[in-house]
Amino acid sequence: MKRGHGRKAAKGAADFFKVIWYCMKTLWGTSPRYFAIRIALSIVSLSAPFAVITLTKSLMELLASGYAQASAANAAIGQCLALSLALLALNVLGRAADTLDAYYSGLQRDAMEASVKYRIMEKAAGLDLSFFDSTAFYNEVCDADRNSPLITSTAFYAMDLARYLVQFLVAFAYLFRVSPALPFAFVASAIPCTVVQIKQVEAIYGFQRQYLGEERKMQYTSDVLLLREFAKDVRVYNLFPFISRKFRDIWNALFSKKRGISLRHTRALLALFALPEAVAAASLFLLGASVVMGRRTIGDYTFLQGAMAQTLSGVYLVISSYAQLSDGKMRIQNYMRFLGFPNKVCENGTLELGTGLFCIEFKNVSFRYDDGLPWVLKNVSFSFHSRQKIALVGANGSGKSTVVKLLLRFYDPVEGQILVDGKDIREYGLASYRRHFSTVFQDYSNYAFNVRESVGLSDVSRANDEAGILAALRESGADAFVSGFPQGLDTYLTRRYEENGQELSGGQWQKMAIARACFRKADIYVLDEPSAALDAQSEDEVFRMFHAMHEGKGAVLISHRLSNVHLSDMILVLDHGTLAEQGTHKELMAADGAYAHMYRLQAEKYKDVG
Ligand code: ADP
Repeated sequence: MKRGHGRKAAKGAADFFKVIWYCMKTLWGTSPRYFAIRIALSIVSLSAPFAVITLTKSLMELLASGYAQASAANAAIGQCLALSLALLALNVLGRAADTLDAYYSGLQRDAMEASVKYRIMEKAAGLDLSFFDSTAFYNEVCDADRNSPLITSTAFYAMDLARYLVQFLVAFAYLFRVSPALPFAFVASAIPCTVVQIKQVEAIYGFQRQYLGEERKMQYTSDVLLLREFAKDVRVYNLFPFISRKFRDIWNALFSKKRGISLRHTRALLALFALPEAVAAASLFLLGASVVMGRRTIGDYTFLQGAMAQTLSGVYLVISSYAQLSDGKMRIQNYMRFLGFPNKVCENGTLELGTGLFCIEFKNVSFRYDDGLPWVLKNVSFSFHSRQKIALVGANGSGKSTVVKLLLRFYDPVEGQILVDGKDIREYGLASYRRHFSTVFQDYSNYAFNVRESVGLSDVSRANDEAGILAALRESGADAFVSGFPQGLDTYLTRRYEENGQELSGGQWQKMAIARACFRKADIYVLDEPSAALDAQSEDEVFRMFHAMHEGKGAVLISHRLSNVHLSDMILVLDHGTLAEQGTHKELMAADGAYAHMYRLQAEKYKDVG
């Protein structure tokens, strides 16, 4: 049992030093200059009080001596002046160092916060899409992002702790000179409140981790009231009372639990903080008595007083920065864990997929999103080449988008293989492979940047290719409304990024997304339900234009309106994750299977309307 405790404590200490080391490395890495300046300033501001204590002792002893002769008194006044000036210089120096330190620590904090935020963004942007399927992971991202200022603070606590430890150790040595037992008594008296403080921060952080999901729910409820996408519903349905009650219910429950934890520890702390003060008062009393009895000088008394004040402040500062660091330690460990999350879709492929025709083959591919979840694709096999236009059709949930996600390597097949020119897709460099595709997803993204950027995002290396951007806008039909914007391509979309942005309708957004896909010079264009928000005429134009402008290019089209896909070189019909039929429109109509049935059903409807 004891050995178990020992091992746990050793591991705790090792973790603690690992965190401190990591913090120091990160601070240094953010700005070696600020780091070095702050160390130099710390040395000055740490040394000044101790020099003051020593000089004050000499001054006191000088003042306490009797001066019978005028010459001795004059010499003493001279010395007194010199000591006073030296004290002045030291105090000014100490203050100056503290003021400069506040200035540099502000700069260092800003730089570090930006760098932590940057690393979180960089990591999140490179993670597998599958991470975003998991609530637990989403909690981790929110936790890391929300805690980014606290992560910075923790690095600062690590620096403070190192500094206060030095202050404490020097003060310890000073006290040791007066009485060897005294500094040990101090340390012993400070241990109980240190332990309680650490337990308090651990309990509160443990509590926060445990209720992370609740905090996410609170955040979501506030989002519903604050974000634009919900603003209409909130007003029409008068949602504030309902949503705010949800928020309050969670807050009330969390608050009362947290208050209970804090109160328990605060009660203990109130009693325990008296201990080091009692040791200080007893020592001063004993030393005062020995001064009265003539065994010590008044200089010794002031020296002890100064050294004790330094020790006490050192003890409190070490305790508080240690407690803060223990709290932050877990945040830093989470941050380190987050940065270390390994991707499942590994990027260790080295083959380059060159320009020119290539062939893609799904070979007995089966897939499910996670181990416990149902199979979404079962034993799917088909192949096509990069100049063919293929269409995926089937009911909702039959697996069409999943085929696309596997094709783009957002996920890897659980069973079977995807081959590109006969080699496993995993053998290719991810970026070099994805470079051949351009996409409009069902849940395409709307960017608040200006029109030029919103279109150019699909190939930022050609962001200045105005002719290309205009052609893409024409191709998607977006030029019809963009040409009416007073600032043309420089018009911002929505008012989220720029005050005077332009609002778009659902169909207009979709045309922007199609323009973005068209701007990219790809081999295969993937359009997953690209026309859901378009009116019938626009939709027809988009598909016509698309076929005309991308002659000789490959495409993977998903559309529920079969009139859009009947020109495709090959149509794949998915049914509950299996490939039910495959062939050209003509072949499938002749086979008179599921496709022919669906096609006739839709044609009938149009006839009725017509
Ligand atoms: P389709 O595009 O044909 O409508 P999808 O490929 O989007 O179908 O979805 C196929 C099945 O996979 C559906 O049952 C859907 O619920 C499930 N699915 C899709 N995405 C995920 C995901 N990220 N995690 C778990 N299941 C998913």
